[in-house]
Amino acid sequence: MKILTIALQKDGQLTASSYELIEAAKSLGGEIHTLILAENATDLAQDLASHGGGKVIAVSNPSLKFVNDDIYCKVIKEVVSKYAPDLILGSASFYGKSLFGRLASLLDAPMASDITNLEIDGDSIIATRPSCGGSVIAKISGKDGKPFCATVRMKIYAESKDGAGEVIEETIDASLFESKMTVKEMKVESAGALNLTEADIIVAAGRGMKAAENLPLVSDLADSLGGAVGASRAIVDAGWISYSHQVGQTGKTVNPKLYIAVGISGAIQHLVGMQTSKNIVAINKDKDAPIFNIANYGIVGDALEILPALTKKFKAEL
Ligand SMILES: Cc1cc2nc3c(=O)[nH]c(=O)nc-3n(C[C@H](O)[C@H](O)[C@H](O)COP(=O)(O)OP(=O)(O)OC[C@H]3O[C@@H](n4cnc5c(N)ncnc54)[C@H](O)[C@@H]3O)c2cc1C
Repeated sequence: MKILTIALQKDGQLTASSYELIEAAKSLGGEIHTLILAENATDLAQDLASHGGGKVIAVSNPSLKFVNDDIYCKVIKEVVSKYAPDLILGSASFYGKSLFGRLASLLDAPMASDITNLEIDGDSIIATRPSCGGSVIAKISGKDGKPFCATVRMKIYAESKDGAGEVIEETIDASLFESKMTVKEMKVESAGALNLTEADIIVAAGRGMKAAENLPLVSDLADSLGGAVGASRAIVDAGWISYSHQVGQTGKTVNPKLYIAVGISGAIQHLVGMQTSKNIVAINKDKDAPIFNIANYGIVGDALEILPALTKKFKAEL
């Protein structure tokens, strides 16, 4: 079986999920290929090769500096037709999901989004996709003769640390780098929001924070732990914080090592976005709040008093 993982870079740096995809591919066995598209892809490809990326295909072009779905998909299609993988893996990140929907359509290939496991059953590749808040587990398989496309939920697989690899510099027809769409610039909206799905630690705020003016208490705690700031929909709808921070059914799905839910009641629509976090700490003044049913640790009390005390302690200790 041939597996092609699509690594991604931001500002010329490989994303953590690029290494996780290699680990996911390793879990299946088979021949691993990794594709990296960048303005200058050679160094990134060498890095991926030293992390077990197998045959690492490097495509360099100025138009690949930013993710441009149109150009990226045309180039990936070209690579797919040359290397004929059975499985194509991408990250279930904002960029990965956008890319893979288009890619699967272009290849007329089956697609599974945001999967949490991969296995082989006979000749079939089976992907696991939890839905309806984890109460339904879908098992999705590919179709004969078509590469199976899948985006893998972040933080499910560890980052591949080592393994065999070699770099292949691939030359692509210049016409494929032309597009009606040009990505000129990427602007980071606010610190802590955009890396939410990649963060190991998230401190998330809910309506229990009482007012937008109190949210610095949450970002201070997140900063003291090197984490990102999440939010419930209630405070996004109230205009206290931007949508990019929202966790849940209509926001982001996150899977950090530590999720601290502050003044969040634990509505099912919030839980579906964070309940697979490795450790959940809830801070809530209501001891019967549903969030405590899934929390590993709970603090019952006023968040406005507890947060500054925790931040002070972590700043002193870490
Ligand atoms: C179709 C649909 C999609 C949705 N999608 C999402 C989604 O993606 N994400 C999401 O989050 N929600 C979503 N919701 C909304 C969801 O149902 C809840 O309304 C929302 O999650 C509640 O947010 P909250 O916990 O911040 O507020 P509340 O439910 O009001 O809870 C506030 C909590 O703060 C506690 N509290 C109050 N004061 C303090 C204090 N001083 N210190 C400590 N604790 C305090 C209270 O005890 C309470 O538990 C969706 C709803 C629908 C219908």
